[in-house]
Amino acid sequence: MEYLTLNNGTRMPLVGFGTFMLGGEACTNAVAAAIRGGYRMIDTAEAYGNEKEVGEGIRQSGIDRRELFLVTKVNFKSYEHAEQTVLQSLADLQTDYLDLLLLHWPFANYYAAWRGLEKLYADGKVRAIGVSNFEPDQLLDLIAYHKIVPAVDQIESNPCFQQPQAVAFCQKEGIVPEAWGPLGKGKDLGEPLLLELAAKYEKTPAQIVLRWHLQRGLTVIPKSVHPERQRQNLDVWDFTLEEADMEKMCTLDTGKSKRGYPAEFRFDGGM
Ligand code: NDP
Repeated sequence: MEYLTLNNGTRMPLVGFGTFMLGGEACTNAVAAAIRGGYRMIDTAEAYGNEKEVGEGIRQSGIDRRELFLVTKVNFKSYEHAEQTVLQSLADLQTDYLDLLLLHWPFANYYAAWRGLEKLYADGKVRAIGVSNFEPDQLLDLIAYHKIVPAVDQIESNPCFQQPQAVAFCQKEGIVPEAWGPLGKGKDLGEPLLLELAAKYEKTPAQIVLRWHLQRGLTVIPKSVHPERQRQNLDVWDFTLEEADMEKMCTLDTGKSKRGYPAEFRFDGGM
C-alpha cells in the first residue's frame, strides 16, 4: 500500500475500501476479505447504518487495529449530536479512535458541526478531521472562520463527473481530494475510451480509472463485494498512464453528477 501525508502529519493510504450500500453479513464478509486482501483504509458512515458490521469485519480479519485507517462520517443534527454519534461509531467499530472523521454533508449549521469535530480532534478521539461534499466556496468559508483546515474533502469524482475545479481548489489549500464513487458506481466502465486504454495498458477499465484518479492526486475508495474485483482495484501500482492519455480522459467529463439522496441521507428533523 502507498500512503500520503495529511496536513496534520497523519499518514493515509491512497486506496481504501468503500462500504456504501453494504449491510449485514455481506458487509462483514466483504470488509474482512478486503482487509485480508491488503486494504488498510475502510470508509463507512453513520448514515450507512453498517458500522457494527464493518467493525465485525475488521475483527474477523484478524489484522491489528493500528495497521488500519478507519474513516467514518457524521451529519449535523445538533452540536451535542456529533460527539454522541461518534462515541457510538467508536463502539460499533470496536475501536477507541478514528483515523479520519468527516462531516458528511454541508447541510444545516456546519459551523457548529465543525466545532464539534474540532473538539473530538482536541480530545484525541480522532487523528484527523475533514469534510465531504463541500464545494470550494463552502471550504473557503470554513477555513476562514475556524482553527483547523480540513485534512480531506471527499467528493464525487469519476470519469463522467470529474470536478476539476473542486480538485484544484483542494490541492491549492493543502486539502486532500478523495473520490467517492470513483468508478462512477460501475456505470462508466463501458466507455469506449476506457476499453481502448484497458487494451493498451493490459489492465481492466476499473484499474485505468483508479490509476487516473491517483495520477490526478486524488485518493480513492472503490467498493466491491467480489474478491477478484477487490484485488484488481488494489493492483494499480505497476503502470503509469501517459500524459496524452490523461488528457484524453478529460473528454469523458459530462459535468453531470450521479448523486442521489437515498432515504438514509434524509434528515428526520432537529436541523
Ligand atoms: P464505486 O464507484 O466504488 O462503484 C461501485 C460499483 O462498481 C459496484 O456496483 C461494484 O459492483 C462495481 N465495481 C467495483 N469494482 C469493479 C471492478 N473492478 N470492475 C467492475 N465493476 C466494479 O461506487 P460507490 O458508490 O460504492 O462509491 C465508493 C465509496 O465511496 C462508497 O462505497 C462509500 O464508502 C463512499 N461514498 C461516499 C459518499 C459521500 O457522500 N461521501 C457518497 C457515495 C459513496 P460489485 O460490488 O458487484 O463488484
